[in-house]
Amino acid sequence: MQSRTDLIEDLMGRFPHVPREAVIKEDLLRGGLAFDDSALTDNENGEVKPKSYFIFSFDHRTLPELGAAALRRPPEEIVLTGGPYELRRTVVSVRTNPDSPYRVKPDEDGRLRLFLDGRAIAEVGLPPMPDYYRHTLANGKSVMEVAPTIQWGYLIYLTVFRVCQYFGAKEECQYCDINHNWRQHKKAGRPYTGVKPVDEVLEALAIIDRYDTARASQAYTLTGGSITSKVDGLAEADFYGRYAQAIEERFPGRWIGKVVAQALPREDVQRFHDYGIRIYHPNYEVWDKRLFELYCPGKERYVGREEWHRRILESAEVFGPRNVIPNFVAGVEMAAPHGFTSVDEAIDSTAEGLQYFMSRGITPRFTTWCPEPTTPLGRANPQGAPLEYHIRLLEVYRATMEANGLSSPPGYGPPGPGRAVFSVSSFMDSLPAESTD
Ligand code: SF4
Repeated sequence: MQSRTDLIEDLMGRFPHVPREAVIKEDLLRGGLAFDDSALTDNENGEVKPKSYFIFSFDHRTLPELGAAALRRPPEEIVLTGGPYELRRTVVSVRTNPDSPYRVKPDEDGRLRLFLDGRAIAEVGLPPMPDYYRHTLANGKSVMEVAPTIQWGYLIYLTVFRVCQYFGAKEECQYCDINHNWRQHKKAGRPYTGVKPVDEVLEALAIIDRYDTARASQAYTLTGGSITSKVDGLAEADFYGRYAQAIEERFPGRWIGKVVAQALPREDVQRFHDYGIRIYHPNYEVWDKRLFELYCPGKERYVGREEWHRRILESAEVFGPRNVIPNFVAGVEMAAPHGFTSVDEAIDSTAEGLQYFMSRGITPRFTTWCPEPTTPLGRANPQGAPLEYHIRLLEVYRATMEANGLSSPPGYGPPGPGRAVFSVSSFMDSLPAESTD
């Protein structure tokens, strides 16, 4: 039987243009990694920045199944360097899987290493606890809960609405555990605010602004579940927009403002822009028509795929095509029982979607699918998508971008192997270092 080491080395050999760093990063993102107890954090009381659970669980087990990692959180991210593949600095978001062949643990000299199939393949750096995490809001809430940062401190992730109004099997996206993640944190007694008050967000941002003296934080993302009726008496654009308005009034231009929301009608999109948001992510999730209808039943019912795409194009007239960056969940194309059964077909379909948007100047981006166990697709596909799909996607993404004369999208930090900080897929690690924002 082929070992995971054989698999990654085979792919590194067959796809020499894809950085080796990206091969390992994609494999860690799709399948997760295990942590030795000694490599876990001391939560908010230690020297290492803990995993904040900033929106989804991004774990391969539920909290009660994580053992020690449920009590002492793993780090938010790790950074890999060196080893037999001579890895350049690679930032990887942590997705916990106690059964993964990848394990973070100390070697015999006590230095933290990433092991694959029992062999050390990289040195592991841990994110230091940021100064701003050591301070609390006046009501005692932590900055990590209200305004966590990811991407090695680059992005402040403001999930201001922790649940989604697409609810239950007939509406929730089939790969999404936002509602389950909210329930499991509540059940575990963790602080996990359903709707974050604007004042708390501003207070947390003031702490970050004050203590982030190196100005590592460059952008914020406003996001959360979809709103099909109202929250706090507000429809989706006004609900998310009010945070942008307050942030831009208080800290004008301090960070690049981004919002992840549904593909909304033009007047709503215009309001986001008027409030000071600069980048809009109306995520299209999966390109194929049949799979979109099956995987995103709520979005299909309330908006519909064609209208969703039409609104994405329309929003480019408001924000400018460079600043419309719709996400898709890379890998769900191959999820059983409805997905493509061959990598060729899945890549062809995904490439068609990339060309559709990129030929219009819009640059999609993707997160690597984490098959969380409480979602229908994760339950049916605990191994996720084949690694070859993820590697070929990096190849076709870059080729389509270059064929359309585009470069890396704004608001993601620097591109290129050894430089990228975007942690939930390796698309930025795989782009040329010379392309700029
Ligand atoms: S719209 Fe879909 S992906 Fe987004 S939060 Fe709701 S269920 Fe999850």
